Amino acid sequence: MAGASFIERMAHDKQEIIEGCKECGTCLSVCPIRPFSRYAEKDTAQLQAARIAFLKGGEASDAVYDMAFSCMGCHFCKGVCPQGLNPAQTGIISRMELIRRGHAAPPAYSFALAGEHFNYFGIMSALLTDPSRKRWITEAPVSPAHADVVFFPGCGLHTMPDHLFACLDILDRMELNHVTLGGIAHCCGGAYMLAGKAEECGEFGDRLVQSISAFTPHTAVLFCPGCMIRLSESFFDCSGLPFRTMHLSQFLAENIDRLKFEKPIRKTVAIHDPCQLGRGLGEFEGSRKAVKAIPGIRLVELEHRGKETRCCGSPAAQHDPAAAKQMGLLLMEEAKKSGAELLVTQCLSCNRTFRGLAQGYPFEVVNFVALVGRALGIEYESKLPLYLKWRDVDRVIEDARANIEASAYTEQEVRFFLELLFSMA
Ligand code: SF4
Ligand code: SF4
Repeated sequence: MAGASFIERMAHDKQEIIEGCKECGTCLSVCPIRPFSRYAEKDTAQLQAARIAFLKGGEASDAVYDMAFSCMGCHFCKGVCPQGLNPAQTGIISRMELIRRGHAAPPAYSFALAGEHFNYFGIMSALLTDPSRKRWITEAPVSPAHADVVFFPGCGLHTMPDHLFACLDILDRMELNHVTLGGIAHCCGGAYMLAGKAEECGEFGDRLVQSISAFTPHTAVLFCPGCMIRLSESFFDCSGLPFRTMHLSQFLAENIDRLKFEKPIRKTVAIHDPCQLGRGLGEFEGSRKAVKAIPGIRLVELEHRGKETRCCGSPAAQHDPAAAKQMGLLLMEEAKKSGAELLVTQCLSCNRTFRGLAQGYPFEVVNFVALVGRALGIEYESKLPLYLKWRDVDRVIEDARANIEASAYTEQEVRFFLELLFSMA
């Protein structure tokens, strides 16, 4: 489908599934969320028949809606289809079809849309980001100077500026000709895809590719596995991209000789491979090569590894939080069994989920970039745990006043956000 737009590509994939699916149910029989859902005892062939009937124009039953919005995009079903289809696309395509027919996505999705002023990423970033430390371009100039490498943090990393600043310091230490294209407005479109908004998803993806291309880089380095898969062949026509895309872990592994690790970390470490990077794109090696280069580390593997790695469950949390939690707890038990003292994550959703579940477990959850940063003597503190402990809106506003005043948000908006956050946490 060279040259096809995102919409054309999705329409093509939908037609391929409608015409090719024999409704055998194999894909749903391997789906890891189903056993924890209300469809655990249902016949998978019948469930799939309902999905296909819906895509052909039939009824949007509760089962169709639930399966669409609790699909985690975990790619467990990729590769099992006897028809050679990619069933992992069915959830996304069903979401888009539901929205096209006037159904609403679960409310939390609308709060993640980067194009809306009041969005989670923007407000969290405004609250936590010290403006004096910002050193990224938020809008690509018309004809910018060439950069060999463009680093794209994605929306999620802006909600964890401690990790974002660690990334920037690490890249600086590598002494590359690079630029960071940041800001919430540069979304890959993934949040729109999850909300079922096909057109906006395509537009954001196109705009991001144009913005990166403006710097004529040979490599775009991405932090988020979700952005990685969005800019992959499976969702986008990347055959003509004028740059290669690499996950940060792959890029650090390729350039590991440029980093001088000063601080040994004498810990036993297990790495969790996020679904989209691992099962989705087949990338497992970069993080291991980079982590093994840190003096003192002993690497162990989780029981389910490689393409069998368990999903954290977080993508299903908006629609089926109980099932999502069960998924996460399975991983916690596995990490405990591995004997790891550090569970290393590479995806912010996995990280947030595991940190939320890790209380009482004998290991610390740490993001890949924070671990590499630690070994280089780079450490930033996040104020979020402190704010969540305070649970005091006035006190937080006072503490973060300089950040808020330098942002696009009013105190009232941040106040409203904090009240919401503290009511849920
Ligand atoms: S992508 Fe994962 S959650 Fe979605 S249907 Fe396939 S196996 Fe199930
Ligand atoms: S495995 Fe393939 S043929 Fe079988 S139900 Fe899933 S998509 Fe259809």
